[in-house]
Amino acid sequence: METFTVEAIILKTDDFGDANRVVTLFTKEFGKLEANAYGCRRSRSPLSGAMQMFNHISAQITRGTKVDTIRDADILNFYDALTKDLERLAYASLLFEIVNRMTFPRQKELETFNLLKKSLPALNKRNPKIAALIGACQFMETSGLQLNFSRCVYCGSEIVGDASISLLDGGAICPNCIDAAQDVRPYPEALRKTFETMLGFNWRDETKLTFNSRLVLAAENFFIDYVQSVLGTGLKSVQFIREFIK
Ligand SMILES: [Zn+2]
Repeated sequence: METFTVEAIILKTDDFGDANRVVTLFTKEFGKLEANAYGCRRSRSPLSGAMQMFNHISAQITRGTKVDTIRDADILNFYDALTKDLERLAYASLLFEIVNRMTFPRQKELETFNLLKKSLPALNKRNPKIAALIGACQFMETSGLQLNFSRCVYCGSEIVGDASISLLDGGAICPNCIDAAQDVRPYPEALRKTFETMLGFNWRDETKLTFNSRLVLAAENFFIDYVQSVLGTGLKSVQFIREFIK
């Protein structure tokens, strides 16, 4: 059987059986993959400790006819504040759930892998809500979704001042194209500038993350509405945030 090595971020885990786990990995090499980690919840397992959500790992995987199996794994980085601080856990989960739900298996997306890798230290240490929203914003522009924040999705003209935005059309709408849009909601200039700042954010920049709280809330609601309207279902992490964080 073919065995291969991947560098991956753990997007999601689901327990099954006595000590097993289905692990959803976002790999550098192949994009999103699902593999079984048998026995990983036993303390003496060589996989013990590594198979946790948000870990950055290197793993050896054997391809199976039905399911792939994780044979061995090394932790490259782990972020312990994400499991101890409820707000960090909630917002890291939001970003990871968005990426998991909005990507397809086995589509290599190096930009998405790098984004997850770069966002983790920020989610672990900085303002987790802002870090998650910056992550979501960058994911939506650079992934296959290509949500358009700065140009009209119909005519391509640069948006100036207050405008509209459409979830169904996937981005900003200028005043000239508003009649063609499928659904519109207000897109104030201040929200667009917030998105543009988030898109341009460099994760290595150590300066304090400061955004107007009203605009942060508007950005959060926009991303949640957008993802939920595309998926047609709710996000679990949103329920968690609304129940325990606000
Ligand atoms: Zn237009």
